[in-house]
Amino acid sequence: MPAKGVAVTADVVIAGGGVIGTAIAWRAAAAGLDVVLADPAHGDGASLVAAGMLAPVSEALFGEGALLRVNLLALARFPSFAAELEQVTGHRVGLRREGTLAVAYDAGDYAALMRLTAFRRSAGLDAEELDSRACRKLESFLTPDVHGGVLFPGDWSVDNRRYAAALREAAAAAGVRVVPDRVTAVLTASGADGRARGVALADGGEIGSGQVVVAAGSWSGAVHGLPEALRSAVRPVKGQLLRLRHPDGMPPVLTHTIRATVRGADVYLVPRTDGEVVVGATQEERGPDLTVTAGAVHDLLHDAMSVLPVTSELILAETCAGLRPGTPDNGPIVGSAGPGGVLLATGHYRNGILMSAATADAAVACLTGRAPAPEWEPFGPGRFLTNQGAR
Ligand SMILES: Cc1cc2nc3c(=O)[nH]c(=O)nc-3n(C[C@H](O)[C@H](O)[C@H](O)COP(=O)(O)OP(=O)(O)OC[C@H]3O[C@@H](n4cnc5c(N)ncnc54)[C@H](O)[C@@H]3O)c2cc1C
Repeated sequence: MPAKGVAVTADVVIAGGGVIGTAIAWRAAAAGLDVVLADPAHGDGASLVAAGMLAPVSEALFGEGALLRVNLLALARFPSFAAELEQVTGHRVGLRREGTLAVAYDAGDYAALMRLTAFRRSAGLDAEELDSRACRKLESFLTPDVHGGVLFPGDWSVDNRRYAAALREAAAAAGVRVVPDRVTAVLTASGADGRARGVALADGGEIGSGQVVVAAGSWSGAVHGLPEALRSAVRPVKGQLLRLRHPDGMPPVLTHTIRATVRGADVYLVPRTDGEVVVGATQEERGPDLTVTAGAVHDLLHDAMSVLPVTSELILAETCAGLRPGTPDNGPIVGSAGPGGVLLATGHYRNGILMSAATADAAVACLTGRAPAPEWEPFGPGRFLTNQGAR
């Protein structure tokens, strides 16, 4: 950690050590750049709360075609990225490829699922309609009351906590230095078109660097020195989630990720190879609130038990809340952010785990003077910039 007022220097400084900042740090260091990553609570953000679904298909919603394309790019990139991570660190990250089984509890839920399925098929995505019996053939613990479902084989999942830990280890092994402090501002050289010259830290120190990446998740807007329109473009969207565990000796109750609609309410259950089942999640516009409420725990368990009654026999191991970095159009913000040498990699909202590998590729392309893949084009910071100046 730098002493007050004493500058550390690097080629690139990254503000934020969630999966986005750490994935970028690892790949940038692997590309030969000298990288410093600043984070006061390395990895203590949404990345550790998330369910770890890699789900471009069951996340595909009406009107989000560009987001679907970048999510598909991200999914295609994930296996080779994860394989390299596992090879470098020697740790498995729990990638699962069984697909998502979306189930509808009643006839109204089924009609809504069919409308979404028609849209997803029209976008070229695989979807296999199943009656209630066929759903239970895939997942024997589902209630016979389930009206019907759809298998989306193109969705996967990863154990996001193992993945995040492996990223941190790979980044350290590649030479990334970590400064456990909060970035308060991006510093730019004086003059109208002043380039980045580093960042200011909460302890009063500075890190000198010609390139700065702001990857502070839902806190990105708190970093000064970015255009105001970008600072206000990222907002926290609260999500509460439960982690359940099988009691000793109980065989796994699930193979696929289940996404259920229960009388209009959505719930998902994501199985891990180590016996954990993640149940989520609420979606709440409550600002930076990280409390867990009794009502959310009740509703998530109620909806999960409605479709998978055996859920009641699992151990409630953890309740948690996290902040998704949301944006006005639900898309990420990845690209040059106004002052030369400043890059934004934030706003990944519901899909930051999925998009982490592809975001690292895009960011490293920008940092090394190459163009990111064309799927990123709609997601540059420019779409939120008005005529306002920086700061
Ligand atoms: C309940 C829930 C479920 C989710 N499920 C999924 C899922 O299934 N699949 C999926 O793909 N995505 C999911 N997400 C979304 C995903 O978690 C996020 O999109 C992703 O974690 C964002 O990563 P990040 O690195 O940008 O932010 P974060 O993980 O929040 O990390 C930001 C980091 O920045 C640091 N920081 C903050 N301010 C500063 C500063 N000023 N200077 C330096 N560092 C700073 C913080 O300490 C933190 O470590 C879910 C999110 C939630 C909340």
